[in-house]
Amino acid sequence: MAEAENDTIFGKILRGEIETELVYEDDDVVAFRDLRPVAPVHILVIPRKHIVNLLEAGQEDALVLGKLMLASAKIARAEGLEESGYRVVVNNGAGVGQSVFHLHVHILGGRSFSWPPG
Ligand code: AMP
Repeated sequence: MAEAENDTIFGKILRGEIETELVYEDDDVVAFRDLRPVAPVHILVIPRKHIVNLLEAGQEDALVLGKLMLASAKIARAEGLEESGYRVVVNNGAGVGQSVFHLHVHILGGRSFSWPPG
């Protein structure tokens, strides 16, 4: 999908149409703080490419999916979460809570988490 057609909030963030608190960016991914944090550290990592969610990702996206995970670890370390650990969450589909249809990895940390998740 052409970037101009990415009418999600994250598409607008990528195009600089909406301000956000950027924490990391490189050629493939961008990370910013969640507007409504549910943990002391709550950061979203997104690919620059518009991929709706993991169900819509293809073989051609293998590299960028790996880069999302590696960037998540780099960011978690920079946020001081190496010792305490952190959780990554990807909601895939409205039925499990996906509200923005541009793939994003939630990095959550700074408090304890229960398992199984709610
Ligand atoms: P999900 O429910 O998994 O699709 O996650 C979408 C996340 O995007 C939610 O945690 C929202 O709080 C967050 N969000 C929505 N709009 C913005 C925004 N403008 N800046 C930062 N985070 C946002």
